[in-house]
Amino acid sequence: MRQTNWAENQIFEVERISYPKTLLEIKTLIQAAVKNKRIIRPVGKLHSWTPLCNDASILLNLSNMPDELCMLSSRHLKCSAGVEISKMADFLYQHDCSLPIMGDCSAQTIGGAVSTGTHGPSIYHQIVANNVTAIKFIDGKGETHSIDDKNPMFNAVRVSLGLMGVVTEIELSLVPAKHLQIEIQVQEDDEWIPFIEEDLQRHEFYFSYWYSHVNLALVHKGHTLETAVGSSISNTEPQDEYLTEVISSLCPAVYKSGVGAKEFNELLFKLFFRNQTIQGPLHKALVADWQGRPILNAEYFVPKEKARLIFEGAKAIDYPEPVFVAIRGGIKADDNWMSPAYKRDSVAIGCVVFCSPFGSEMPRSLRLFNDFMHQCDARPQWAKWCDHEHMDLSKHFPKLDDFLKLREHYDPHNVFLTSALRKILKVN
Ligand SMILES: Cc1cc2nc3c(=O)[nH]c(=O)nc-3n(C[C@H](O)[C@H](O)[C@H](O)COP(=O)(O)OP(=O)(O)OC[C@H]3O[C@@H](n4cnc5c(N)ncnc54)[C@H](O)[C@@H]3O)c2cc1C
Repeated sequence: MRQTNWAENQIFEVERISYPKTLLEIKTLIQAAVKNKRIIRPVGKLHSWTPLCNDASILLNLSNMPDELCMLSSRHLKCSAGVEISKMADFLYQHDCSLPIMGDCSAQTIGGAVSTGTHGPSIYHQIVANNVTAIKFIDGKGETHSIDDKNPMFNAVRVSLGLMGVVTEIELSLVPAKHLQIEIQVQEDDEWIPFIEEDLQRHEFYFSYWYSHVNLALVHKGHTLETAVGSSISNTEPQDEYLTEVISSLCPAVYKSGVGAKEFNELLFKLFFRNQTIQGPLHKALVADWQGRPILNAEYFVPKEKARLIFEGAKAIDYPEPVFVAIRGGIKADDNWMSPAYKRDSVAIGCVVFCSPFGSEMPRSLRLFNDFMHQCDARPQWAKWCDHEHMDLSKHFPKLDDFLKLREHYDPHNVFLTSALRKILKVN
């Protein structure tokens, strides 16, 4: 059967999708796959742009497993890996706590977000996986492992791309519920680019979206409020619907003809983008509404001190299509072997194309962006469309060989290793 990811840039065939309801079913499925020489990929909501789940015989989806959400203490959660982040965040909010940081989408599963190193826009916070204090998974032999921060392999199994096994349960450390205020400003290049380094450091949350052809950016600066406030965030404003309509009706023609890139981005600023201040709980304030607005996204982690220089290079590309180049915030260094922020304070720089039906062919603008980033000291984000296959990943992930050895240990029959992942990781 035909399967696609969320953005529909990965299109592949699978024999079937299994929806196990119990841990025993997961074990049995894995052991049967080993016996029948089938490849399994655990999947969440398929929100990654990369071929992480392509070329598998069986997709293993945990959405029929019971959604366990259990407070172990006032600042410690145990949850099943297949729980959607929005559900988890609402639950935490009801218990007056929160993750310290999130990405800008909450439709993914927590298992998927942890496994790919999902991050938010703050140099004061690490990737989401860094809040994991214990993880339970079923390996490629059908054996269960519970690994916590006392285990030397802990930093290898949090960001693991579904290669060590099927993660079934995750424990997370939390902070008291956070309320944010974010100022959004439309700015010209000279109003914000000279201050990138300073602003990344000065604001707890900082991200900016620079639109090609018009040289205007939406600059976001945010901080945690001391007292809780009501939410001023709504995804149901008429202008949001119109934005979706404009994007979906104009994009296909603009991208196909290569004409009107400037006019398209100009229109977005004329009709929709304006200075504004939003306030609300972290899981609302940092999250955007992507429903009906598919995008294609490549993104790299660059060293914090080179961020402005690399951004300027990415901005100077002659993009044939209307794009925005995003500084998706800083990310504090961590110790996760496969994290792009491994032992390095980083800044995420991405290129975003509003998606018309591109299928699996990479738009020219993303190709140019990727080609440029491949020449920089830039580590690819696992979930973003970075053309990993054509990169020397061992240069960017110093612990890659150790990770691959551990992978072999947990998955000696290669039941989770697809041909697409073999190409990316250069495994024979
Ligand atoms: C609109 C949009 C906005 C986004 N914003 C951000 C952002 O702000 N920051 C950011 O860093 N990323 C962002 N992402 C990327 C997203 O966070 C990742 O792609 C994330 O992995 C998606 O989770 P998922 O549940 O869809 O996982 P999938 O895409 O289904 O799977 C991702 C990987 O995780 C593995 N996996 C999934 N579940 C399990 C499990 N239970 N056990 C073992 N392995 C598992 C899969 O095998 C696969 O390798 C965004 C994506 C979209 C579409």
